Amino acid sequence: MLIQYHILFGFIICFFLYPVYGTNIVIIFLASILIDVDHYIFYIVNQKSFNIKKAHEFFVLSESTFILPFHTAEFLVALLFLSLFHSFFFFVLFGVVLHFILDITDETRFDYIGRFPSLIWYLARKVNKEKFKNKE
Ligand SMILES: [Zn+2]
Repeated sequence: MLIQYHILFGFIICFFLYPVYGTNIVIIFLASILIDVDHYIFYIVNQKSFNIKKAHEFFVLSESTFILPFHTAEFLVALLFLSLFHSFFFFVLFGVVLHFILDITDETRFDYIGRFPSLIWYLARKVNKEKFKNKE
């Protein structure tokens, strides 16, 4: 989902959450947007470029599968674990879940999903592919 929609829907949802969570909605709102920084980091590492406009085009046009660390089940589990110790992480987790719901809702419109949902699953597949490639 494009960043402007994350900002719009995040703002609307946080507006309604304000009576429940007070100023902590700022953490939820920022987390629901800033999680997408992993797209840009992925682009910088893989394309060796800081051009944010090209990074945006890369993810809009790309049809390959990639792993985005903040968009994985492991990141959710880590935040869930950390939220046991400090409420800040609970609100970050809330924002990330909100972000995931918006991403998943948006991506139901497409045939393919570019990002892989689990780091462990991704690495296991990669190791397995290498193993089978070596047997041929
Ligand atoms: Zn996202």
